[in-house]
Amino acid sequence: MYWDPEVETLTPEKLRDLQLQRLQATVARASQSPFYRERLREAGLQPQDIRSLEDVRRLPYTTKDDLRARGPDFLTVPTERLVRLHASSGTTGQATVIYYTRADIEAWAELVARSMYMTGVRPGDVFQNMMGYGLFTGGLGFHYGGERLGCLTIPAGAGNSRRQVQLMQQFRTTVLHIIPSYALYLLNVFAEMGVDPRDLPLRIAFIGAEPHTEDMRRRIEAAYGLKAYNSYGLSEMNGPGVAFECPEQNGMHVWEDAFLLEVVDPNTLEPLPPGVVGELVFTNLTREGMPLIRYRTRDLASYEDTPCPCGRAMRRISRIQGRTDDMIIIKGVNIFPMQIEKVLMALPEVHTNYLVELSRRDYNDIMTVKVEVKESFFKEDLKYLTGLKKRLTEALKSELLVTPVVELVEPNTLPVSEGKALRIVDRRQET
Ligand code: ADP
Ligand code: ZN
Repeated sequence: MYWDPEVETLTPEKLRDLQLQRLQATVARASQSPFYRERLREAGLQPQDIRSLEDVRRLPYTTKDDLRARGPDFLTVPTERLVRLHASSGTTGQATVIYYTRADIEAWAELVARSMYMTGVRPGDVFQNMMGYGLFTGGLGFHYGGERLGCLTIPAGAGNSRRQVQLMQQFRTTVLHIIPSYALYLLNVFAEMGVDPRDLPLRIAFIGAEPHTEDMRRRIEAAYGLKAYNSYGLSEMNGPGVAFECPEQNGMHVWEDAFLLEVVDPNTLEPLPPGVVGELVFTNLTREGMPLIRYRTRDLASYEDTPCPCGRAMRRISRIQGRTDDMIIIKGVNIFPMQIEKVLMALPEVHTNYLVELSRRDYNDIMTVKVEVKESFFKEDLKYLTGLKKRLTEALKSELLVTPVVELVEPNTLPVSEGKALRIVDRRQET
């Protein structure tokens, strides 16, 4: 049941000891990069000043802007030792570039294999990897993990929907890696082709790369007839395989032997107790080529340190609630796209997609929520649809405290992405 029993069953105390040892080694290594040499000097710190895990708080933070501005200055090895680079998807601006040594690629593949194994994937499984191959880490990261575990790995890549279904049929795919919004969209293609995914031998899916709600997961599980596990990672910390759900499906275990986790208030940067949502901050504990210290992810979640029935001491983080830079402020109220998704995906009438548009009229912010409605409901009479629209508006208002304009649209008419879904279009600057 464990891929790496020695590490996965460490007691909390032993895990902390290992983390401290690795943190000390990481700081010593990082201090050889031009960026951290400078930062540590400014902070008046030497690697030997790190004597306990709490001492991590004396170290400076690293931000996405630091990586953008100083990329190669983070390297601790000569370029001849680098074997690959990846870049973030650039969801929130210019992409950041991460370099890997051979040992980094191998350590990463191990973590992904460990994550997959935890959910029950075994050699002999047929693994269809439906993530973009290329600079994005989701494709190659899982590809190497699947091979390392011993799966027959299909490098399907993103998009090409009909072909995806054909591959599943032809090779009897049992395990998928797929972006959750695309998984819902793909159901339309299954329907068009007259194939019911529940008739295929699919049993496990990894869904990640973008925020999604519990209802979204349950919808995917029901429609495909499989178990869907939340998978979290970011290119700055390798890529996928940073935190992953175990069979309990109750929070994602952070692989704390490889990443030191902190959850801080994004404004005051003070550490937060379990259960309180804040920004995730990670320090690499095993990265060779480009170790990052206290990287501010901008991802919002809380952590739990209660024991998990699966026996792993690694702490669990909640579902990602959003990114600090996803937050929209409308009429002075803070809103995250996931709040909207939570309301919509709980309603059986709602089809697979939605889009939020922000505009401005006479100095007033207007939030329009376009919602696809399932065919069977869309065919109902006007009175029914007016009632549905009203119910949706009320439900959104009570969650968001702002009254949106709800527009019901026909199924499969809103734009879909092969990669991360675009949920918000802000046109407020255009008017
Ligand atoms: P970008 O920040 O440009 O999207 P990446 O391709 O490295 O760069 O994607 C990492 C980001 O994707 C994370 O920081 C997080 O915001 C999001 N993400 C990844 N996995 C999940 C997940 N399981 N749930 C929610 N968000 C996720
Ligand atoms: Zn567990």
